[in-house]
Amino acid sequence: IFDSGESSEAPLQLDDAVLSGDVSTAPDSIDLLIVGAGLSGAVLAERCSKLGMTSLIIDKRDHIGGNCYDYVDSNGIRCSKYGAHLFHTQFERVWDYVLGFSQWIPFDHRVKGLVEDKAGVKRLVPIPPTQETVNILFEESVHSESDMQAWYDKERLAPPGGEPKNGEEAALSRVGPRLFEKVFKHYTKKQWDKYPAELDASVLLRLPCRTSTDDRYFPDPWQALPRRGYTRIFENMLLGDPNITLRLNCDFFKLKEAGSLPKHKLLVYTGQIDSYYAALGMPKLEYRSLRFEEEFLPDPDGGFFQEAMVVNHPSPDVPFTRIVEYKHVPNQPQEVKEGKVKGTLIAREYSSAEGEPYYPVPNPANRALYEKYADLAAREEGVAFVGRLASYKYFNMDQAILNALEMFDNLKDMGRGSGRL
Ligand code: UDP
Repeated sequence: IFDSGESSEAPLQLDDAVLSGDVSTAPDSIDLLIVGAGLSGAVLAERCSKLGMTSLIIDKRDHIGGNCYDYVDSNGIRCSKYGAHLFHTQFERVWDYVLGFSQWIPFDHRVKGLVEDKAGVKRLVPIPPTQETVNILFEESVHSESDMQAWYDKERLAPPGGEPKNGEEAALSRVGPRLFEKVFKHYTKKQWDKYPAELDASVLLRLPCRTSTDDRYFPDPWQALPRRGYTRIFENMLLGDPNITLRLNCDFFKLKEAGSLPKHKLLVYTGQIDSYYAALGMPKLEYRSLRFEEEFLPDPDGGFFQEAMVVNHPSPDVPFTRIVEYKHVPNQPQEVKEGKVKGTLIAREYSSAEGEPYYPVPNPANRALYEKYADLAAREEGVAFVGRLASYKYFNMDQAILNALEMFDNLKDMGRGSGRL
């Protein structure tokens, strides 16, 4: 495990062969050919290796870790190439599993939003909303759970059909129109280029709705950050394992077209499911991407730019959704924690339709289209579709890990039954 003692904070230098994109130097016959070196692919390779199965993982990017990839920038600050990742889970199986690949630092994620109050002045308030949020924004005097319950009861609008049918009905039924307008409506439009009414209720239900003073973003019992970043977890899972071969800069579809895929018993595909079936000419699924505008702000006193790691900007007058300031988290390198870095790195986050896919877009049209792809996938022999992009599900990291562990359980059972794996 490359996590203890004096080992480097930065991602490890990978072998030339790994970066070469050349599968001809990899074993020509393996049990699993895994497309994608993100969470799903890494978990399956790692688990299967412990049963003696061999894997070749290929990824078109030049690094492991998928969208979890983080690194140390030129100023010495640990940052994430694809946006902030905060690990949280309620699944003991997942927590036990991740403990095997990193030391973890407890960290309860707290988010503030910059939101206009009654006088039109922007104020920093807890998100998800708490008693403090409504007191600041609406000049209320809510000071107990029962006050807050009464406030919600006054505000809330019951969904017309009993159950909320979309994101707007979900939010209105939980927080009412005033908070909906200030916190959810425009943030959602910026994030998805759709208003909440055009999205599934589940998207808005991701945020807890509380009557208490608990201002943590997630309610889960385990919330923590990997001591040396997420990339180190992948290194600990994959590198140095004789059963696992990695080839980065390696495009699955190009290899497939060239007939250069090595022999394998099972293909584990973790990319976009519609890309897998692109040749069929069916409509494409919709994904959202993110773009980050990073800025290093020098400061001789080593101060902070904002109060919290993440500040949301739900109002429509700025084009970004949130600003991340990396220095706030406790898994920064020692120099950062000791205030020796004379400045701070921020990233303004913009959502976009173009770019690397990050999010499936949960709404009825995409769900119906996904079902068509899922039908094809179910009839496919020798291929397992796993993960956020292949399952078209808005998984958090822990859900992606659980999904891969459950897929592993199935493979194990299949292997036992057929002797094939
Ligand atoms: N959301 C919002 N206002 C906020 C925070 C979240 O409207 O201040 C809505 C928005 O639709 C967002 C969804 O809740 O896409 C889920 O938020 P989350 O922070 O879980 O999104 P992620 O971190 O996955 O981008």
